Amino acid sequence: MDFSFSDSQKMFRESLREFLEKEIAPLVDEQEKKGPMNKEEALEVLRRFRKIGVGFDVESMSEMGSDPLAIGILAEETFRVWPAAAGLVGLTFPAALVNIAPEDMRDRLLPKLERNELIGCYAITEPEAGSDNQTMRTTAVLDGDFYVVNGTKTWITNAPVADLCLLVAKDERGGRIFLLVEREQSPYEVSDLHKLGWKAAPTGEIYFEDCRVPRQNNVMDMVASAMTGSRLKEIMGEDFDPARLANSRFAKMLGSMAPENIIFAFLRSGMALAAAGISQAALDASITFVKERSQFGKPLGRMQLIQEKLYNMKALTVTSRLLGYWALQLAMSGDPEARMASSLAKGYACEAAVQVASDAIQVHGGIGLSDEYPLERYFRDARMLTIPDGTTEIQKLVVGRELLGKGFSAYA
Ligand SMILES: Cc1cc2nc3c(=O)[nH]c(=O)nc-3n(C[C@H](O)[C@H](O)[C@H](O)COP(=O)(O)OP(=O)(O)OC[C@H]3O[C@@H](n4cnc5c(N)ncnc54)[C@H](O)[C@@H]3O)c2cc1C
Repeated sequence: MDFSFSDSQKMFRESLREFLEKEIAPLVDEQEKKGPMNKEEALEVLRRFRKIGVGFDVESMSEMGSDPLAIGILAEETFRVWPAAAGLVGLTFPAALVNIAPEDMRDRLLPKLERNELIGCYAITEPEAGSDNQTMRTTAVLDGDFYVVNGTKTWITNAPVADLCLLVAKDERGGRIFLLVEREQSPYEVSDLHKLGWKAAPTGEIYFEDCRVPRQNNVMDMVASAMTGSRLKEIMGEDFDPARLANSRFAKMLGSMAPENIIFAFLRSGMALAAAGISQAALDASITFVKERSQFGKPLGRMQLIQEKLYNMKALTVTSRLLGYWALQLAMSGDPEARMASSLAKGYACEAAVQVASDAIQVHGGIGLSDEYPLERYFRDARMLTIPDGTTEIQKLVVGRELLGKGFSAYA
């Protein structure tokens, strides 16, 4: 396995860092104090990311998609600076489906997508179905040319500001169905949720009450028709060979994993790198601080117990990063091992970030607890990581099941 970055990956990371310092960092303090971004504020953040080619339109996607590690670099670096912005960008991924949507939806939404002004969200969790999403109650029942959706989704990142929701529901036979719900066309209600960290990230509960969603918004149908039609060639380029895709490892992953587990493999790898980003920010702040602050007549950095803390923080940060890129590489190459790897990486790195941020506070002493410094935010932001996209406990159970086999599943 080669984990060194190529020259172009290094260049991307450098220009991303420069962009984040110049365009994103100045927004952080005020918006975190103010609370969840409203729609206009969220759009402004997305428009800024468009300037460096980050978005879900065909052009940006093929640029980012041509390099598997670029997505990891984006997650790590953006979380290092502002997790709320990273969540907004990352969880907008359902907007990418507009590229393969039915023609009328595409005509309506493509211009917005190309300007990076389309916000998405992904809704699977329900008030009574968190870790155990098999018990979800939201239903989508076919009625002529429409699905009628009823149910409540909770803890949905971006829900209050999203134009599009990738909804997971149960169909009339109790099977899983994925629908792309356009809020303007199929109105639903949303309420805000407030939380410990990621204060500026809009998060909410969604209420579907007899919400009518066009039948053609069934995502599996959209994907199937994109695979057989010419649309995929348009998106992937003229050289794209659908036959090769059918025999690819990715197709095998589709055959061996439920679609939501494929989505989780990417989200969890991304979360591991997000955690590495927060850990790095906390470590960087600590290194600077212990060189400047003196007690007992010498810099803190010359105290052995402080150096031990730095050792631990560095080891946790580097391990998180390596696990994250390893899992991401497996997911991008369609390797079924990605399920185990992404759970291992997510579980480890998110707990590690809590530890690193806590140690960083300790190293800073009293000012580590002050809201005049970013340390307390790093800690709150890190503490958020161990719950979304599967709690640490669930990651351990997924790894256990993947190591031991289906008959040993402790959660099903
Ligand atoms: C900030 C934030 C953003 C989120 N964004 C999204 C989003 O965009 N879309 C979305 O669909 N969801 C989202 N979620 C929801 C998230 O995925 C769930 O919160 C998570 O899966 C846990 O579900 P729960 O909160 O209902 O906890 P529960 O499932 O009720 O778990 C409570 C506790 O019990 C433990 N537990 C549960 N089962 C077991 C078991 N078998 N063995 C041992 N321990 C167990 C858990 O680990 C946890 O510690 C988000 C959550 C948060 C906090």
